[in-house]
Amino acid sequence: MHCPFCNADDTKVIDSRLVAEGNQVRRRRECNECGERFTTYESAELLMPKVVKSDGTREPFDEHKLRGGILKALEKRPVSVEQIEAAISKICHKLRATGERELSSRVLGEEVMDALRELDQVAYVRFASVYRDFKDLSEFSKEIARLQKNGAGRKET
Ligand SMILES: [Zn+2]
Repeated sequence: MHCPFCNADDTKVIDSRLVAEGNQVRRRRECNECGERFTTYESAELLMPKVVKSDGTREPFDEHKLRGGILKALEKRPVSVEQIEAAISKICHKLRATGERELSSRVLGEEVMDALRELDQVAYVRFASVYRDFKDLSEFSKEIARLQKNGAGRKET
């Protein structure tokens, strides 16, 4: 981002917040060269961070892929489309609000797990079994036992 005063491209973000119902990000920036401060408004669609995979490669954030993974975990579970869509937009909102340019696929996985944990415990275990690096099988079994004790499968109201 170029400084509008001296045209240096060495500027830093000092404040970042979502505006216009989350469709824009307002950023306060400070020029490291001349010290002037200025405000930018950036469209939120352009601000989804890139996803850094475990092998170090980057890929654009893909909402369809995210939805696909969540739907897969929620297959045949008593969760409404509205609940799913609300969870997806909550995740997207959260990722945008970070203001980060990149995030690890692990962070994304954790966000999905948090969302599923709230939606449906069975779906959560399904997803976790694939995405979380359980250190060993007993750890995974413990997790399932914990969920069953808490009434996995039953819809909590
Ligand atoms: Zn400047």
